[in-house]
Amino acid sequence: ALSVSGLAKSFRRDRVLDDIYLDVSKGEVVAVIGPSGCGKSTLLRCLTWLEQPDQGFIEVDGKPFGRALTGDTVRHQSRRAIDAMRPRIGMVFQQLNLWPHMSVRENIVRPQMVVLRRTREAAEARAAAQLAGLGLADLAERYPYALSGGQKQRVAIARALAMDPALMLFDEPTSALDPELIGEVLALLRDLAATGMTMIVVTHEIGFARQVADRIVFMDAGRIVEDGPARKVLDSPSDPRLASFLSLIQ
Ligand code: ATP
Ligand code: MG
Repeated sequence: ALSVSGLAKSFRRDRVLDDIYLDVSKGEVVAVIGPSGCGKSTLLRCLTWLEQPDQGFIEVDGKPFGRALTGDTVRHQSRRAIDAMRPRIGMVFQQLNLWPHMSVRENIVRPQMVVLRRTREAAEARAAAQLAGLGLADLAERYPYALSGGQKQRVAIARALAMDPALMLFDEPTSALDPELIGEVLALLRDLAATGMTMIVVTHEIGFARQVADRIVFMDAGRIVEDGPARKVLDSPSDPRLASFLSLIQ
């Protein structure tokens, strides 16, 4: 579903991402862990071209996204081509995912109409089905201020899924939540993984990563230091930086 090669990004002279290679197959769930500031959010933002990577290539379902290498020539895609491709990747952030001045239903309907050019009827049908599928039908007419943090995140996930993404990126979707609300969002992510959705989840929830992720990627200082099956990475870390990171958070 996703192939990333040689991705690099600097802010001024700080190299925040350095030579990132990452392949995610269809249906795979990859958890990304690592210390604060190591580049996890920047990686997700580069994958969607919310941030422009300085170097490297991204493919989504076998199609180049943003720039492509043809022979020795790097070809840059137009802003329009990038905007057309972006909805293939759903993204859910830590917070501020919903438009405050629209109902839940409208939050899910509008992007489908604006970005995918669906008719209102089609978008409303899809929104209703998506909400029902996630057990959120009762929330359709509410406004975001009247939702709990956990409900907001679940609606944000419903909104992203209604766009039929090829893969979903989650950037610490539970870290802004009160402890009692974290479980409901993790349960939804677990269900989503079980449906075969391709997912990359940046998380500090190591228990969740162990249970749900096929692979864990550990980043440190802009690099992927370790990438392997969840159990192997967590139980027998080979890199000392990973070992010390795990000892700090577990
Ligand atoms: P956290 O776990 O705290 O969310 P992270 O791994 O997501 O951290 P990033 O947000 O990707 O880390 O940040 C990586 C580095 O890039 C940090 O040093 C950060 O200060 C820097 N950085 C991120 N965005 C920008 C920006 N727009 N301009 C300048 N520096 C930035
Ligand atoms: Mg971050």
